[in-house]
Amino acid sequence: MTDIATSTTRRPGRACNVCLLAPNLRTQLEQQLAAGVSISRLSRGRGAPSRHSIARHIRGGHLPQQIEERVLRLTGLDSVAVASRVLDIARRARTSALVAEEQNNHAALARAGDSELRALLALVAMRGPDATESEIEIDADSREIAKAVFTAARLDAHVAATIQAALRNAGHVHIADELSAFVSRISSQEIHP
Ligand SMILES: [Zn+2]
Repeated sequence: MTDIATSTTRRPGRACNVCLLAPNLRTQLEQQLAAGVSISRLSRGRGAPSRHSIARHIRGGHLPQQIEERVLRLTGLDSVAVASRVLDIARRARTSALVAEEQNNHAALARAGDSELRALLALVAMRGPDATESEIEIDADSREIAKAVFTAARLDAHVAATIQAALRNAGHVHIADELSAFVSRISSQEIHP
């Protein structure tokens, strides 16, 4: 068993509430994480950092290297676990969108499209140069997600505006303009059949 207290710490965060703890308290917290104590339970301790702070400490690479992988896995914060959870959300939203489309429920379809878009953007932000198996699966799915996003944009001007803003913020002005042109073309066809 490795002694965490004597290990070196990598990339400590200056503004991180866990890194700012007294060294013995910080080590205690890290040992508990490695022993499988949940983030929410640790955050309830007196004077303990918030859940957000602890999660940030774990994902920010501040943990001693020899326990990092174990803690990431135990807390479900490893990239594969997170990506697959987000993918599940995207899939559920897509199923909802299909049902809503069949029922001609525009409000529900717009909501589903919005959820799916959020999940899609989160996945895009999450992807790194080392694509994992689940990320490859996501690539295959993104075409279907894009179709559903277009459908939602066509049916709801607010959703269309949200998607366009997200694309512009991500630096994809060209795609945002294409979507805008697509939506206005469809709308004009609907007004003047
Ligand atoms: Zn930290």
